[in-house]
Amino acid sequence: MKRIVPSGLIVAIFALVSASSFDRAKVFRVKPQNERQVKFIKDLASIKQLDFWHPDSALHVVTHMEVDFHVSADQSRAVQTFMEQNRIQYEVLLHNLQEEIEKQFDGKKNFTARHCYTKYNSWDTIAAWTARIAKKYPKLVSRIEIGNTFEQRPMYLLQVGKVSGRKKTIFMDCGIHAREWISPAFCQWFVKQATRTYGKDKTMTYLLDNLNFYVLPVFNIDGYVWSWTKDRLWRKNRSNNSNTDCIGTDLNRNFNAAWGTVGVSDDPCDEIYCGTAAESEKETKAVATFIRENLHSIKGYLTIHSYSQMLLFPYGYTSRKAPNHDELNKVAEEAVEALSSMYGTKYKYGVSATIIYPTSGSSDDWAYDEGIKYSFGFELRDRGKYGFLLPQSKIKPTCKETMLAVMHIAKYVLNHAS
Ligand SMILES: [Zn+2]
Repeated sequence: MKRIVPSGLIVAIFALVSASSFDRAKVFRVKPQNERQVKFIKDLASIKQLDFWHPDSALHVVTHMEVDFHVSADQSRAVQTFMEQNRIQYEVLLHNLQEEIEKQFDGKKNFTARHCYTKYNSWDTIAAWTARIAKKYPKLVSRIEIGNTFEQRPMYLLQVGKVSGRKKTIFMDCGIHAREWISPAFCQWFVKQATRTYGKDKTMTYLLDNLNFYVLPVFNIDGYVWSWTKDRLWRKNRSNNSNTDCIGTDLNRNFNAAWGTVGVSDDPCDEIYCGTAAESEKETKAVATFIRENLHSIKGYLTIHSYSQMLLFPYGYTSRKAPNHDELNKVAEEAVEALSSMYGTKYKYGVSATIIYPTSGSSDDWAYDEGIKYSFGFELRDRGKYGFLLPQSKIKPTCKETMLAVMHIAKYVLNHAS
């Protein structure tokens, strides 16, 4: 069933497929000043097709929050008029989504299917890379299959670290939300840095001698493939739902952490649909099972998202402080400081429920409640200039600065986890 298609061709096909859906589509930013304006946005979302970029859903909108949403070309005039009539101040972040989608590929040209760390790579290219890198660095990298996706794609996990006896490990996943392309790019970058600097860079060598990393480069593979071939802004997985044509579950609402309580939808047509039960989705089940089976060694959990430049830690489902809140706060503060030291990129950090908004069923809360005391969620660049359509030329600086934060957390976990 594997399609071997050069990625340049995929890009070309993708541009054709999506041309009709995103040409002249816009992304608006609104900052509601009071409850009336919050209600306006929620009402607007119920009558117009708004695709929320930040927060994830109209449900999460509160006063003074920056709210970014995408509107199709045929609705954007009406939405603009509504906002003007109601004296809602707005900013147009992106004027023509189709142009931005094409501009993402501003870095190296995607004429070949060759894997490249400074490019966005298609799933087929990433899958082939996982096999190749494990073969090239057998003493440092091994590939594990942890399950299959809904569409029967194997889920590959890379174990990275010098082979030796019992070691503490850190689990890191990327691409749980399909459209956040910078996230899988970071997981690949991490593996590149690990393999190329082991034995040369002192910190990396120390870390890989004493720690293992489990790196899941793409969590939501089916969704990622869909975002490359059919809908660049796809978020959920691709599983069927009963009694509806709407496809997909939000995998980051599907974990068994106060599942189905706050910040979720039980409507399969919504972007934050939590599924029929905790771990109802094959992808969630595979990851949760793997983590449970390896809990004795996993001391840290990192989940990589975009966008908004934040480093978050539990909880999301309650405003109750996590037992080691002060410690997590300190580690996050230092990690953000390390990140900013490279290019001055500003990050917020803190408890998910307060820094972003309350959500249940997220992977980082679940990992924490399973006993992984160092659990963090990253929201990588940017803060809305390009949103999910971050140009390829930003992959390198984004990954370089993020490495500093991840290395800081890893060092901390190695030295402090019991
Ligand atoms: Zn996300």
